[in-house]
Amino acid sequence: MYGKFQSYLSEELDKIAQAGLYKKERCICSEQGAEITLADGSKALNFCANNYLGLANSPRLLEAAKRTMDSRGYGMSSVRFICGTQDVHLELEKAVSEYFHTEDTILYAACFDANGGVFEPLFTAEDAIISDSLNHASIIDGVRLCKAVRYRYANADMEDLERCLQQAQAQRFRIIVTDGVFSMDGNVAPLDKICDLAEKYDALVMVDESHSAGVVGATGHGVAELFDCYGRVDIHTGTLGKAFGGAVGGFTTGRKEIIDMLRQRSRPYLFSNSLPPMIAGAAVELFKMLSEDNSLHDALVQNVEYFRTKMLDAGFDIKPTQSAICAVMLYDAPLSQRFAAAMAEEGIFVTGFYYPVVPAGQARIRVQLSAAHSREQLDKAIAAFVKVGKNLGVLK
Ligand SMILES: *Cc1c(COP(=O)(O)O)cnc(C)c1O
Repeated sequence: MYGKFQSYLSEELDKIAQAGLYKKERCICSEQGAEITLADGSKALNFCANNYLGLANSPRLLEAAKRTMDSRGYGMSSVRFICGTQDVHLELEKAVSEYFHTEDTILYAACFDANGGVFEPLFTAEDAIISDSLNHASIIDGVRLCKAVRYRYANADMEDLERCLQQAQAQRFRIIVTDGVFSMDGNVAPLDKICDLAEKYDALVMVDESHSAGVVGATGHGVAELFDCYGRVDIHTGTLGKAFGGAVGGFTTGRKEIIDMLRQRSRPYLFSNSLPPMIAGAAVELFKMLSEDNSLHDALVQNVEYFRTKMLDAGFDIKPTQSAICAVMLYDAPLSQRFAAAMAEEGIFVTGFYYPVVPAGQARIRVQLSAAHSREQLDKAIAAFVKVGKNLGVLK
């Protein structure tokens, strides 16, 4: 029976490869970190992980994970509401609420699930969801699962958002949904202006903090801190898989009744397993660690500043950013691929993106900085950028 379907799949896969969009995976044979070791024993500097605070191999988090595994076991074999809730899950929910200054928090296996399970329990066909055009795939999928009327506004464009809000007065409730930091340009959503418009047009506000939490704001607490919007955001979603340790796990945090309704009705929460105790235990330790001092966030901010300044001085065209994502603009798609390949040969891993991941004619190299990068490693990456830039005619 498989034969016809197999040839269909092979043809589709060939098309993906011919379009240059076939994704290959690099096999890392070390911990995740600023420097990684590959299967052939070679080493590379890693500038393409979301390991913003450098915690993916933190001894303190590893120790907390082991300790919790010893005291609370390996797995829960249950969803939360049947018999999958431990003290450590409740502690983690409390820690997330404290971090974001919110009333309550619900955990998920991933932020993909948090976003997938947030709209359908809260909104019906009578309501409106107004979504930024560059929002993450998981928000797009979550919106698809909900019957609410959809509006889409151009990325961070407040005039376009206002137009959507005016049209959406036809619906019962409205919610504006945005990523905190957009992962391709590294730009920050103008949350203060979004909240102003939400108040003017009677709408709720949701922000996905996946790339912003731990990164933006004076002490890294995300876009609500950056724009002083505490109390004005109704829902934050986020991941434990980026700055917050890099393992796995997601959360939705916000108003008490919203979280309560999600616990009753959110399908990825009701029908999917609890976070493993070791992840919850390590994450509790993580929030404790972040509350003690701001050194990791300070190191990240200094690294971003240093890298950006040196790259601009070298003559590269870099999108303005308030995040740890640095888009080095090349505009030309094949060039972006040659550039990334040449960087890999220099032992520097960065990602080349082009259409359809970014708009046509906007190809770029994305660099993700981490608190774990040393000055020496940053200098090595910058030197490689300059060398490759000259070789490929990007720099004079
Ligand atoms: C990475 C990311 C997610 C998915 O997070 P996971 O916990 O890995 O599922 C969701 N939203 C945004 C904006 C992201 O960047």
